[in-house]
Amino acid sequence: MARRPSKHLRTPRPLSTGSFATTESRSDGDWQVRTVTGQAATKPYRCPGCQQQIGIGTPHVVVWPSTVTSWTGGGVDDRRHWHTSCWARRR
Ligand SMILES: [Zn+2]
Repeated sequence: MARRPSKHLRTPRPLSTGSFATTESRSDGDWQVRTVTGQAATKPYRCPGCQQQIGIGTPHVVVWPSTVTSWTGGGVDDRRHWHTSCWARRR
């Protein structure tokens, strides 16, 4: 008799709750962009695009450079939180 795999035995997904980074090319290079849901926005951030605060619970994007350019490591440590619309307007 064939056994059905239980869904409880499936390989657990990574910690991310369905969000993943995509790569976007801009005039100043490639950027990793990840969407943050309102539920995941548990801290206020300042948007570099408009210098306004991104409030708690506001869906937005996190952006960091694809290419590590600094000796400090850059990359993920250079993450910036942007309003989705501000990032979309950026060139
Ligand atoms: Zn903004």
